[in-house]
Amino acid sequence: MRIIVDLVRCQSYGQCIYAAPTVFRFNGEASLEFDYAPDDALREKVERAVAACPVQAIRIGLPDAPPAGEPPVTARGEA
Ligand code: SF4
Repeated sequence: MRIIVDLVRCQSYGQCIYAAPTVFRFNGEASLEFDYAPDDALREKVERAVAACPVQAIRIGLPDAPPAGEPPVTARGEA
């Protein structure tokens, strides 16, 4: 699995570290480090971290992956 953390949004609350300590950690005072490709066995913990983050900074998935269930984009004619 892949995870993405928006480090601009992250406010270093540390809730993700409590939820998934083998995936997220602080490096120094408040600099978040994380494993961007944790083992699938950790999915439940990562999902808990996603839910626990107060600013919704963590996402599961690839950066370029289209949103699940979204219909394909179609071109519209001018006529
Ligand atoms: S819970 Fe969210 S805001 Fe807090 S350290 Fe983790 S990613 Fe950052």
